[in-house]
Amino acid sequence: MSGLFRRTTFLRQTEPRPRYDVVVIGGGVSGLSIAYNLAAKHGIRNVAVFERAYIGSGGSGRNTQVVRANYNTPETIPLYKASLGLWRSLSQELDFNIQFSTQGELDLVHTHDALEVERDKSLLNKAYGVETHILTPDEVQKRCPLVDLTGGGELPVIGASYHPPGSLARHDSVVWAYAVAAQRLGVHVHEGAEVTGIDVEGGRCIGIRTDRGAVSAGSVVSAVAGHSSLVAGMASVRMPIRTHPLQAFVTEPYKHVLDGLVSSMDLYIYISQTARGELLVGAEILPYNTYSTRSTFDFLSEAAKRSILILPFMAKARAMRQWTGLCDMTPDSSPILGKSEVEDFYLAAGMGTWGFKGAPIFGVTMAELIATGRTPTLIAPFHPARFREDRMVPDAASAGTH
Ligand SMILES: Cc1cc2nc3c(=O)[nH]c(=O)nc-3n(C[C@H](O)[C@H](O)[C@H](O)COP(=O)(O)OP(=O)(O)OC[C@H]3O[C@@H](n4cnc5c(N)ncnc54)[C@H](O)[C@@H]3O)c2cc1C
Repeated sequence: MSGLFRRTTFLRQTEPRPRYDVVVIGGGVSGLSIAYNLAAKHGIRNVAVFERAYIGSGGSGRNTQVVRANYNTPETIPLYKASLGLWRSLSQELDFNIQFSTQGELDLVHTHDALEVERDKSLLNKAYGVETHILTPDEVQKRCPLVDLTGGGELPVIGASYHPPGSLARHDSVVWAYAVAAQRLGVHVHEGAEVTGIDVEGGRCIGIRTDRGAVSAGSVVSAVAGHSSLVAGMASVRMPIRTHPLQAFVTEPYKHVLDGLVSSMDLYIYISQTARGELLVGAEILPYNTYSTRSTFDFLSEAAKRSILILPFMAKARAMRQWTGLCDMTPDSSPILGKSEVEDFYLAAGMGTWGFKGAPIFGVTMAELIATGRTPTLIAPFHPARFREDRMVPDAASAGTH
């Protein structure tokens, strides 16, 4: 960790106590949501979050802010639908404006295979009470006149899947909202405090070691997204995870022209406009594994080219900033939520490209599991043991990656 991170703390800081009822490793949206829910819903306030850098320095401050529920399995749709329900009132619940805004999501389709997948998905979404419609090219044009239906003359749009509840929320506001609300309830959020070890005795997790000393704990939760395998490894728990980089860029700010999210299911590209007016472009994960967050010119030029194919006005926009985050991908493209094989060591991991939208429900359900010992029905299918038991929840088609 660099000296810069160590000195950069923004929240009120206190010395770590020698013991907490629950220790959460990772000050991203998942960890903070779990800590907040333990205190707010279960009265467990002797809780600490240990964040090695600053809150939101991982994927939570680097994502493209998309919140939606148009997933594609009987397990994932209810999970993200429940999360979307929580997002709607999160500003009020946390007393912090998270800039949540529902503007719809338009997923353009260019091939018949992709259209079939989207048709099936829309039927399954409807069966679970999630609004997702198939649009004709004319309907696409009415909804978003900026779309080039010829796909730059290369990839004509033959239809689209439209998800009216698709929303956006300001990522760092969400992180701060959870952190401040948790602190108000007595939770300690330690920034610049790295967890360097996890103590396990007789098959039970009993605490952590940090660069600020050892801390004992009733339960420990790992919520470190792109570093899940490394942190779980400290408790000798092996994770079926591969860590991939995911990049994004924004243009300079422009007058508001684009409502909601426009994506292409075949080009693996998506574009929205932030409240500040920047056009925000995201793509799929890169195919290789790394812990490096170095951004590449190849990504920038390819993502810009693909955006111009569907939204030609993007050709005049000037790229301003690009960045990279880490995505822990599971074999089934679904999260890992539950107890590990080590007693009192919990995992909120495998956050891939879906961890931001899921964070509100991940926090509620993981807090309930830790507080009561009972696994909430919504997260039962996402138990860490599912890989060993061959009960995976395959949903790669919804994760926006190959
Ligand atoms: C470019 C990009 C776009 C994305 N777009 C979307 C999107 O539109 N919608 C969506 O739902 N998801 C999206 N995601 C995924 C989403 O950002 C993540 O799944 C989510 O932020 C994970 O949150 P988290 O709290 O679990 O982890 P993180 O936010 O990564 O937080 C984990 C924290 O753990 C800390 N940590 C690591 N090791 C240690 C240690 N040893 N000790 C203490 N602290 C440690 C890290 O510093 C980090 O701050 C995107 C990701 C990227 C990179």
